Amino acid sequence: MRIAFIKVNMMYSKGKDALKPLVFPIVEALTPADWEIVFYDERIETLPDDIDADIIAFSVETFAARHAYELADRYRKKGVRSYVKEPENSEENGRVNGQLHGEYEEAGGGRMPRIVMGGFHASAMPEEILEHADTVLVGDAEDTWPLYLRDVKNGCEKRRYDSDNKCPVAYVNNNAGCFAGKKYLKLGMIQASRGCRFNCDFCSIKSLYPSGVRQKDIEDVVREIRDSHERLLFFIDDNLFVNEKTVRELFEAVRPLKKRWACQISMDIAFNDELLKLMHDAGCIMVLIGFESLDERNLKIMHKSANIQVMHSGVNEKTAGRPEKDNIDDRRYKENELKYEAAINNIYKHGIMIYAMFVLGYDHDTAGSIERTYEFAMRNNLAVANFNPLMILPGTELFKRMSAERQLRYEKWWLDPGYRYGDAMFYPRSMSCEELTEGCKRARYDFNSFRNIMKRLTGAGVNHRSLFNTVVFLLVNLISRTEIHRKQGTELGGNRTEKRYH
Ligand code: SF4
Repeated sequence: MRIAFIKVNMMYSKGKDALKPLVFPIVEALTPADWEIVFYDERIETLPDDIDADIIAFSVETFAARHAYELADRYRKKGVRSYVKEPENSEENGRVNGQLHGEYEEAGGGRMPRIVMGGFHASAMPEEILEHADTVLVGDAEDTWPLYLRDVKNGCEKRRYDSDNKCPVAYVNNNAGCFAGKKYLKLGMIQASRGCRFNCDFCSIKSLYPSGVRQKDIEDVVREIRDSHERLLFFIDDNLFVNEKTVRELFEAVRPLKKRWACQISMDIAFNDELLKLMHDAGCIMVLIGFESLDERNLKIMHKSANIQVMHSGVNEKTAGRPEKDNIDDRRYKENELKYEAAINNIYKHGIMIYAMFVLGYDHDTAGSIERTYEFAMRNNLAVANFNPLMILPGTELFKRMSAERQLRYEKWWLDPGYRYGDAMFYPRSMSCEELTEGCKRARYDFNSFRNIMKRLTGAGVNHRSLFNTVVFLLVNLISRTEIHRKQGTELGGNRTEKRYH
């Protein structure tokens, strides 16, 4: 029997920033050898009109959900040809594989494939998924996928499979056959853990993995890195800083491998000089940190405790290196910025570049906050910065609160034909939707202008301290700039590429 596994693109145009999806090698390793499996990544390749398969499996993220549903409906309507193969022991199976789903109608000259969906959006919105799929896999694939395939073989698959999300995080082969012939960014993808010890209200990680963090054996992480052909790696962990002991062991194990890498990490590492040194010595050149907001009141609303910890750290203006003459009216803002600046300077001191993520639109943000955040990012020569209008992801505490308080602009923005990438998804309390959308767009475009890219490259020693850093800085910025212009104002899903903003 044959499976087609599809990673769905969120819009029609292909991107320049596609990273290897680790779900491919995970699913490939979990699929028994007597199944034939083919992988399509729509972010980098065009899907065939017909797919010859018994099962079409979709990995669905919220931004790609609308398009995933369109594809599922289209393939089902086409009734694509089925790959029928006599089972080795048809007596034992009781029926020939090609007849297991006698209830499906034939159309377009062939039997319909079973549609199965998994991924983040499937876990957050399983009922919605079942309007377009025969089966939904909720949570990790490690325990649900083999069970589903076994039931398909036995002709008794269910509508829904729930993972207990407790299976060990296992070795993943970065050079698996599923990646053959596919052009991704030349970046080895490594995962050392799943889950996060924090619980930010806008983040879907805690709702997906409520029971905490699972750590991969460090020997397996080292083996993955050793097996990876890439010189530059990215740890896709939501927060690599699981705890001090574990992360120290990880850095020490990674150091002899002499790779360069980037990772996502919480801000509470910012003043831990010992760990930062170890991290740099282990090959870290860039950290992605959720700065989120310059306003501590917003950080409190979102439960961003790692950042609040930094805001309350013992640093003062002198440490932060900002002159008194700034004379900023808003004392509260100034103090918050100084704490963040001290954290940034300390990370720079260890030779590590910063990719900062900001969310804008929380209750205390005004149109002026966006401008101020942009100026902060420029002044501190952040290698990259995302200025995102607050995203309301289904399954999160934030979604529930916004929904209860009737603050949502669209009931389900991911399905709404009126929503465009970069739009405000809700009614902010202290500015208009237009101000939020346009303010973030302006910050994104200005920050990524060629002039400002060069200004930031030369503005902080860390961004050009070696040829390697300079090349990585320029590459990441050029990709980021291209992607911002490609995505901003574009409708999600389908073939439509009309843009409202230019
Ligand atoms: S620290 Fe990051 S990964 Fe962890 S809950 Fe907050 S936003 Fe999510």
